Amino acid sequence: MFGELTRAADRPALRFGDVDLTYRQLAGAAGAVAAQIKGKERVAVWATPTVQTAVAVIGALVAGVPVVPINPKVGERELEHILSDSSPDVILREADIDVTASAPLPDVDIADTAPAFIVYTSGTTGPPKGVVLPRRAVMSNVDALATAWEWTSEDILVHGLPLFHVHGLIIGIVGPLRRGGSVRHLGKFSSEAAARELGGDATMMFGVPTMYHRLAADAEADPALAQAVGKARLLVSGSAALPASDHDRIFKATGQRIVERYGMSETLMNCSVRAGGERRPGTVGPPVDGVDLRIVDERGVRLPDGEIGEIEVRGPNLFLEYLNRPDATAEAFRDGWFRTGDVATVDPDGYVRIVGRRATDLIKSGGYKIGAGEIENVLLEHPQVAEVAVTGEPDDDLGERIVAWIVPAGDRPDEQDLIDHVARLLTPHKRPRVVRFLDALPRNDMGKVTKRALSQ
Ligand code: ATP
Ligand code: MG
Repeated sequence: MFGELTRAADRPALRFGDVDLTYRQLAGAAGAVAAQIKGKERVAVWATPTVQTAVAVIGALVAGVPVVPINPKVGERELEHILSDSSPDVILREADIDVTASAPLPDVDIADTAPAFIVYTSGTTGPPKGVVLPRRAVMSNVDALATAWEWTSEDILVHGLPLFHVHGLIIGIVGPLRRGGSVRHLGKFSSEAAARELGGDATMMFGVPTMYHRLAADAEADPALAQAVGKARLLVSGSAALPASDHDRIFKATGQRIVERYGMSETLMNCSVRAGGERRPGTVGPPVDGVDLRIVDERGVRLPDGEIGEIEVRGPNLFLEYLNRPDATAEAFRDGWFRTGDVATVDPDGYVRIVGRRATDLIKSGGYKIGAGEIENVLLEHPQVAEVAVTGEPDDDLGERIVAWIVPAGDRPDEQDLIDHVARLLTPHKRPRVVRFLDALPRNDMGKVTKRALSQ
């Protein structure tokens, strides 16, 4: 998985704050972790955004011991669930890891199908499920992304994401180390810190839409910051939809067009806009190499391009199973295809547009299938709208009625004005029937809107 650990030697691997590790130092410290956990069947890692977490994870991977990353802010109930579900032999915490230690890398033969990670989903739509990811999924996906992003050992990644989900941990730490590049972790994201790195020698950044939303405002207010960000080779967004308005604002302020990708714990990254391809706002690009993707209706019948349906995928990137959940695993597959639960349309040239989730974002109103994402994007163009979530609510007449939850930008907008705005820009049947105002949208640790929490 990490040929570079021995090949790259004196090249920089990781920087967290004022701690720098070269590949040789990382290999030594990971070897020490591997020796420490020898014979264990499964380890949990208390995944603070620190160099110790990265070393613990790499140590477990080279030892072939599956890793369960744990959100350090996890509440009691959820922690209990994760520990009883995954039953790790040991929990590695910062104090258990000596990043200055040095031991040889273990000489073990590990099958590609062996589990590498058990990652708990974000819990956006229900209780988190333990996703068992094989080594093959991790390796094939990083390699497919390397092609899509023209990702090389010369790349220096700016990283401000947590280390307990696939985005920050697998794509953001394992990814660069498999490529032989390096990582600068910011601890906590700020536009200033990111701009300092990108204005220097860092080449790429991975972020979630809430970060880019802040970066858009900060770049508009500060031309020097905008210029620094403009030097990046690649800014990548994922984990939730990047509003087209933020894509455009960042482009206007910095000259950068963000590359959006779409993935999930169960599949790693399914789609991405290519570094050298057209960076079209509001789309996540075509499937990455090796991933088959189709759009189907409720019965699993393939739909023609342009129609809204559920995304199903298959390929070497798929997880093995939900831990201890044969029921959920069986339900998640149809004829060998994984049912993502996300709904989308596909442009004629294969670019995928995510509409949202089947459960909350596909609204059936007045006989139409309507995607929440399209309405959210249009409402965000309204000058008095700062944030928005669109949901469907049972309605005697329409089946479901469209509800817009609005966080105003400054003065509260007129409800009818918002409704007319959608009717004018889209079609009248897509207009919200109800508008509700909020101070903030409910979000989880990844900045994703938890629509479940939006009820009357
Ligand atoms: P849970 O499965 O517990 O409800 P979750 O689905 O949020 O939580 P993750 O696996 O971390 O947990 O997130 C994957 C989901 O994030 C995808 O299924 C999709 O809905 C959303 N997502 C990821 N990238 C994008 C993107 N670029 N655009 C829109 N949605 C995205
Ligand atoms: Mg999910």
